[in-house]
Amino acid sequence: MRLVTFDDGRGPEVGAMVVGGIVALSRRLPVAAPSMLEMIGQWSRVEGAVRLAAENLPDVALETARLLAPVPRPGKVLAIGLNYKDHIAESGLPTPEHQLWFGKQATSVNGPFDPIELPKVAASTVDYEAELVAVIGARGRHIARERAAEHIFGYCCGNDVSVREWQRHTPQWMLGKSFDTHAPFGPWIVTADELGDPHTLDIRCLVNDEVRQASNTQHLLFDVFAQVEHLSKAMTLEPGDVIFTGTPGGVGAASKPPRFLQAGDMVRVEIDRIGSIQGQLVLEA
Ligand code: MG
Repeated sequence: MRLVTFDDGRGPEVGAMVVGGIVALSRRLPVAAPSMLEMIGQWSRVEGAVRLAAENLPDVALETARLLAPVPRPGKVLAIGLNYKDHIAESGLPTPEHQLWFGKQATSVNGPFDPIELPKVAASTVDYEAELVAVIGARGRHIARERAAEHIFGYCCGNDVSVREWQRHTPQWMLGKSFDTHAPFGPWIVTADELGDPHTLDIRCLVNDEVRQASNTQHLLFDVFAQVEHLSKAMTLEPGDVIFTGTPGGVGAASKPPRFLQAGDMVRVEIDRIGSIQGQLVLEA
C-alpha cells in the first residue's frame, strides 16, 4: 500500500493511493485514522480495516489534493552521514568507524512538492542529498539486525537538504541540517511489505532535469537494518520516527567548482518502486 497525508481543504487527512486518486481513510475510518502517526501506532489493530477501505474507489482526485509529508510531525528525524563510499571519497573525510548520526529537527519537515527555502543567513551554500527514508512502525529498543525489518513500517523518498556553510561551522552538523523546509520526504509511504528488499533500489537526484546523483541502495555502507539495530541500542524507536539513510556521491559541494542550489532551481529525488518528490528553491521570505 501507498499511504499519504493530504489536504484537500479540510485540513490534514490520512489516505491510501489507489488508481485515479486517494481513498480518504480518515473519512472512512474516522476513529482508526486521525493521523498517520496515530495510525502507524495502532497498525496491528487497524491494518485489516485500512486494507479493506483501500479497495474502494477514490474519494479525492490527486489533482485536487496537496500532499503533505506523510508524517507531518515525526517524534524524531534521524539522519546518518557518510554512508556511501563514493560520497565519503568526494567529501575527503575518513570512512567512519562508527555510524555517524545527527538529528534534523521536526520543524525542518517539508511536503514532498513544497518549496525549499534558501535561508536569509546562508542562501549561497544550500545543497541536495537524495536519500531513502525509512519510517518506523513498531516501537522497539535493542532491536537485533535480524528483527529490524519487523520494525520498519515503510519507505519514502527524501532530500536531506543541507546548508554547507553552517554544517561546517562546527563539528556537530545539526544546525546546518535543520533549517525550516530542509527535510522534504514522501510523496507517500510505501509499506515495507509492498516495497520488498530496500537494498536493491536505484536512487537519483536531478536538478533542473540534470542527473546529479545516481546510485543504488545496495551501496549503503551501513544498511537500513544495521542502522535500526545501532540506533535502538541508544534510544527507543517509536512509530512514525523517520530515518534518512544516507546519500550517494554527486552532491553539489563536491563538484569542482561547487554547484549549490539557486532560487528557481527544481530539485527532484527519484527512487525505484517508491516514486519521486520535487521542490523548487525559493528565497526565505
Ligand atoms: Mg544526508
